[in-house]
Amino acid sequence: MKLLIAEDDPLIGAAMEQGLRMAGFSVHWTRDGKEAETLLGNEVYALLVLDLGLPGQDGLVLLKHLRQADNHVPVLIVTARDAVGDRVAGLNLGADDYLVKPFDLNELVARARALVRRHAGRARPEMCLGALQLHPLTREVRLDGVPLKLSQREFTLLETLLETPGAVFSKEQLEERLYGWEGDVSSNAVEVHLHNLRKKLGADWIRNVRGVGFKLVEPRNLS
Ligand code: CA
Repeated sequence: MKLLIAEDDPLIGAAMEQGLRMAGFSVHWTRDGKEAETLLGNEVYALLVLDLGLPGQDGLVLLKHLRQADNHVPVLIVTARDAVGDRVAGLNLGADDYLVKPFDLNELVARARALVRRHAGRARPEMCLGALQLHPLTREVRLDGVPLKLSQREFTLLETLLETPGAVFSKEQLEERLYGWEGDVSSNAVEVHLHNLRKKLGADWIRNVRGVGFKLVEPRNLS
């Protein structure tokens, strides 16, 4: 189970990393808010432990971007005792829980486990089309039983298309699922992710319906 810690304080970060490792989690630690967002776009994590005062990008801004991009990774905020306003803002932006510094490492581990478990319980069941399987719970994708390594954006695209196989999704619909209301999306960002997804799946799975959009089909069943 892989977790991401975004915390710039070296002592607190190191303590959290060690505590969560000893509890059996695989832990990635970054001190920069911008790098955290990049990592979350490329990898699937079971939990984000988020300090709000981060260099590079504020933790609340990062959280807002994540939820707008339809990334539902559970988020545990860690804040200073006097930052009540930040905690409220974080919960309103879609954080799942918070801890006030200084906190006991055992409590961090207990909260982390509870959040991962609760999130798993909420996840939808497996989605399938022919030889393609997607597990929302474990974030795994398999084709003919072979695991595919997808980025977060590719995973969200495939999950969207798999909700209604054969239905055509416009570029704008896919864009909204991937980026929410982020303003600065380049005009071909969706095509780039679709292109990469096609390379991993095989080009026949995703069909371009000219002038309308894209749909997912079983390659043997090109309708
Ligand atoms: Ca900080």
